[in-house]
Amino acid sequence: MSVHGRDHDIEQSMGVLLTALRDIATRNDCAYDNDPPDERPRPCPCARCVARQALDVTDGGWRFVGARVYRMETNARERKIVAAWRKLGDDRMLAQILADATSDIDKVHLEPPTPRDWYVATSVIQWLATNVGSSILNEAGWAYQEYDADRAEREKREKTTKKSIDATDKDTP
Ligand SMILES: [Zn+2]
Repeated sequence: MSVHGRDHDIEQSMGVLLTALRDIATRNDCAYDNDPPDERPRPCPCARCVARQALDVTDGGWRFVGARVYRMETNARERKIVAAWRKLGDDRMLAQILADATSDIDKVHLEPPTPRDWYVATSVIQWLATNVGSSILNEAGWAYQEYDADRAEREKREKTTKKSIDATDKDTP
């Protein structure tokens, strides 16, 4: 088979797989939706969540998966800082950050970042939003502005969880 024919075949198979994944990811609810957030398995092994993770990975989203990615589900600060990083960060930017800057950065050959580079960068950026990490930012003069919004989000989530627990209690004879 020609290289061109093989590329075409791979592209077609990928198309079929992505369609199937999108279907699974959008048509189903998480199998653990009714469990309290603390008791849900992480990462979630249900079909919908696995399909979402797979889609994210094929989309380049693996770059923004750090060591404690599961914490973003319940921690607004960590989710927001990684979301902001994801908006700006790309291979070129991380390559520039890691490049030896003793020479003119526009003229040096930029090594593309490795998956490990991305893992470390994203893990550290997420960590900066933790209590310990943000104490470094505070020490240097940064001040977080969204405590109120985060608290409102947390209270809303706790209410929903309580509702679903109450509903489960009622179901139990
Ligand atoms: Zn799930």
